[in-house]
This record gives sequence, C-alpha cells and structure tokens, in this order.
Amino acid sequence: MIVVMQLGASQGQIDTVCEVIRRHGAEPLVMPGEDRLAIGVPAALSQDQRVSLETALGLVEGVSKVTQTSSPYKLASREFYPESTQVTVKGVQIGSDTFVVMGGPCSVESYEQFRASADMVKSAGAHILRGGAFKPRTSPYSFQGLQQEGLKIIKQVSEETGLPTISEVMSADMVESVAAHVDILQIGARSMQNFPLLIEAGKSMAPVFLKRGPSATVDEFLLAAEYVLSQGNPNVILCERGLMAFDRAYTRNILDLAVVPVLQESSHLPVVVDPSHGTGVARYVAPMAKAALVAGADGIMVETHPDPKAALSDGSQALDPTQFAALLADLRRIAPVVGKRL
Ligand code: PEP
Ligand code: MN
Repeated sequence: MIVVMQLGASQGQIDTVCEVIRRHGAEPLVMPGEDRLAIGVPAALSQDQRVSLETALGLVEGVSKVTQTSSPYKLASREFYPESTQVTVKGVQIGSDTFVVMGGPCSVESYEQFRASADMVKSAGAHILRGGAFKPRTSPYSFQGLQQEGLKIIKQVSEETGLPTISEVMSADMVESVAAHVDILQIGARSMQNFPLLIEAGKSMAPVFLKRGPSATVDEFLLAAEYVLSQGNPNVILCERGLMAFDRAYTRNILDLAVVPVLQESSHLPVVVDPSHGTGVARYVAPMAKAALVAGADGIMVETHPDPKAALSDGSQALDPTQFAALLADLRRIAPVVGKRL
C-alpha cells in the first residue's frame, strides 16, 4: 500500500499518517518524491487490516490517495525503495559502478588447490574468491566437498591473500559456522526455497548471495529474497544462474539474461550473473560474462580452476588461469562503454 500526500502536505499531517500506519502494526516508509511525498506500507496486511487502515487514512487531512501495490514482495521492491542497494564486503561494493568479479573453483579440494585459485583470482584483478566447502551434488556418490575442513582452508587463504570470500551454506543449522569462516553466505539454487535456511540467513547480518532456483519465477525469487530481508538483513545479492533447460545437448541450463533488467526494474537489490552454471561449458562462459556486463549486471560469478581437467566438480565449465585473465582484460575494455569499471 502507498499513501500519496497532497502537494504541500504539512509535517504534522505526514506524522499523523505514519502514526496511523504504526497503529496497524506496520512500519511506515517515507518516500520523498519530485513534487509530492508518498508513504509506503511495506507489509503484507490481512484483508481486515487493509480495510481498517484505508478507512483510517481516509480521515487524515493531507492525504491525496491510497493505492494498492501490485508486487507480492515489499522490502525487495523498487516501488518502496527506489534507490539501488549496495552491499559492501571488505571494501568491495556490489551494486555500484564497479563490475564485481567473483572467481574460484566449484569446490575447495585442498589447501594447495585453493591457494593457487586465490592467486589466479587476485592476479587477474578479480574482487572476490569463491569456493564450495559443502556441495549440493545431484548424486550422493559425487564429491560432497571438504566440509568443515574446506571452511578452514577458505578462512586461511582469505587471511593470507586479503581476498573477501563466498561459500555455500546448505542448512539453517550451519549458518553461524559458515558465517564465521567466510564473508558472503551463498544460498544455492537448490536451496532457494529452503525457508528455514532463508530465515536463519536473515537473522545473521552477513551478506547473502541468493541463487535463483532452476525453475523459479521472478516473483518466487524475489519472495525468497523477501524472507531474508524480513528478518532484518538488508544485504542480499541476487544471482541468475540459468534455468532448467529443455535442450541439454548443448548447454547445462538456459541462462536468463533478460532477467537482469527485469530484476533491476522490480527490485533495488544488486544482480549478479553466473555464466558458469548458466552454460556448463567453459568456452561459452566468456561470451555470456561479457553479455552480462552489457546487460547491466552488477557483477559475475565465474568458476575457475588452476587445472580444470583435474577438478573434482564442474571442471568442464571452469576457466583456467589464461582464460580467466583474458576474460578480465576483455571486461576491462568493455566496462567504460556501459559506464562501469572493474
Ligand atoms: C555452485 O555455485 O557451485 C553451485 C552449486 O551453484 P548452483 O546452486 O547455482 O547450482
Ligand atoms: Mn559448481
């Protein structure tokens, strides 16, 4: 619900509207506009509450009109929060004019492999180091990650290199432990609607990197973000990583690049693209990464490996050090054309 005030409404009238909204159990959001001020009610009200609030607001002087908003999500919506959100991680601003590049292996495999990954990420000029310690694998017989040991390696390598880190957390009871070892909590595509996990991640104030489910609609995706936001954690980054493909003969998933401007129109949250899982094929990663930059994404997450052939997971989509450095050089050349820098 949005309350539009009359031109020249007084501060006293604005305060009264806010008070009425608070009395109905919602926190008002004052949104100064170009000519007139609006007050948002970013809460999902029951039918009864809505009618009662509308009636009460109708009696307040200075109110021009009360409109219902169309989006089911509130806190994630640009309608309520027109200004783009920036999530800052150890000095790296995601959602700014810097195109943020996250690189690193699918899985942390050993100290040596992860340290070499960090060195290639750093020397290419990328910003954030990724690496999975807990791996959501399709088969229980596939490599499940080094788990707790992997978290320790991530923390150690981050301390040694100064790179901020991101790693996946798969269950609510692991949020605290993962957050103690890494800078950004990744919620994987398969967990996008793990509601207890979203709630726990929302209680932790750590930045949350939320991957879109393989068949999630935009509304479902933003409502998942809403779960995290509704717990008081404003640091949410959205990630498009490809949708369930009907033709998997050529690519692993269908990378939905059109969702970048769609999300940026509907939401104020930063949007990152993962062209690695989006295509599943190393040679398609660079073209899609460059397309993501041009499409207006705030960054990319790319899987890299010091020796992709030897990778324990997702080797076929990992860039080697030469390919990764070449991609960053290309992105650096393209970025100024679209008003970004690396
Ligand atoms: C990953 O980032 O390694 C991963 C498992 O991604 P997704 O959840 O998008 O499949
Ligand atoms: Mn992977």
